[in-house]
Amino acid sequence: MTLSPWWIAQDRVDIVSKRLGLEKWMREYLKSCKRVLDVTFPVRMDDGSVRMFSGCRVQHNLARGPAKGGIRFHPSVTLDDVKALAMGMTWKCAVMGIPYGGAKGGVACDPKKLSLGELERLTRRYTSEIAFLIGPDKDIPAPDVNTNAQVMAWVMDTYSENVGYSAPGVVTGKPIEIGGSEGRREATARGCAVSIQLACDAVGLNLPGARVAIQGHGNVGGILHRLLHEAGARVVAVADSQGAIMNPQGIDPVKLARHEKVKGTVAHFPGAKPISGDALFSVDCDIFVPAALENQLTGARARRLKARIVAEGANGPTMPEADKILAGKGVFIIPDILCNAGGVTVSYFEWVQDIQSYFWDENEVNENLERIMRRAFEAVAARAKKESVNMRTAAYMLAIERVARAIAIRGIYP
Ligand code: NAD
Repeated sequence: MTLSPWWIAQDRVDIVSKRLGLEKWMREYLKSCKRVLDVTFPVRMDDGSVRMFSGCRVQHNLARGPAKGGIRFHPSVTLDDVKALAMGMTWKCAVMGIPYGGAKGGVACDPKKLSLGELERLTRRYTSEIAFLIGPDKDIPAPDVNTNAQVMAWVMDTYSENVGYSAPGVVTGKPIEIGGSEGRREATARGCAVSIQLACDAVGLNLPGARVAIQGHGNVGGILHRLLHEAGARVVAVADSQGAIMNPQGIDPVKLARHEKVKGTVAHFPGAKPISGDALFSVDCDIFVPAALENQLTGARARRLKARIVAEGANGPTMPEADKILAGKGVFIIPDILCNAGGVTVSYFEWVQDIQSYFWDENEVNENLERIMRRAFEAVAARAKKESVNMRTAAYMLAIERVARAIAIRGIYP
């Protein structure tokens, strides 16, 4: 049976909330989404025809601050997936100590099959459909799978035109020219790299020389490849949606980036041999980074995995069965809500800079990012030790406790 990410997300909250001794009403509160907006809207295509698209925006919980979460454009976007991702954002912000609640949005579409003009019209119309929910004090979108700084610029412009003034704080992950932050593009991967270094310290693995396999070679996986290579690690295998490649001597990120620019994929890179996407999970490596989509690390794949550390660059990449198998093998998992939280952390910095209209240099951004990643990692590791639980359970315990406390302090209205 395939478990839906929403079912998995709710089940996890149940288990951890019970462990924390939370009352039943609080468990139900934490398992529910505050707002769910389902939208269907028309977009005029280049050939003059009109196509209908479906999307949504979900706000899971606002107890600790305005909602924060990305916008995903993908053919398989479903409301249940987006609800799970929105809930994940609540825990991610809580575990990092960032004053936001969780949200997520998405449109079911394949942007690779849209022209630039069609993509812009789709983005602007989707933004208009969700405009009453979003705003710098209400809900602040950001990029996610298949959305980027340009898409965020269209969201910011559409919102600003509707309210009548420039509102850079309505989205993060924008281009620098319109209020984006230095360091934001690399932030998720940089945060992953910091947490991987700390995990290496925890298990006694030397990052220089360590062998790494990465699934997904986009904003997270592709940049992380370069950062780990620069840190002396050897990235021996990578995969994207069109193919996977392996070279036990290491894959040069700069040459691969050049190849990707021309071919649009890592497949057929001359500096490595092709393998199947599934074979990536059997590659000899010390560190495995799922940085593509949810539910990629199944039980069967976890059984084959040789890594000592799994660093969840993607959101929800590990199935519950795989979690148990990896725990049994003594694999150190850096959970998604901690591992990939560098993106939302620098998004928070971007929002702070936009609100103050005062911008930091890249060093300041990276130093603050590293400090916050380190603080969160150490808090989770300490909790894991104290409660004799793994890093995922410890991260959820910290996050759920913080959100539950905020709800309790605010009280029940009216
Ligand atoms: P992206 O669109 O830039 O890259 C996704 C990559 O995954 C691409 O290389 C794509 O080809 C690959 N991919 C897709 N399906 C695959 C498959 N079946 N097998 C192998 N590769 C596959 O997206 P991204 O921004 O890098 O996001 C990746 C993951 O990280 C998502 O789960 C996202 O939610 C999460 N995440 C992203 C950010 C961010 O700042 N971008 C922050 C936190 C979490």
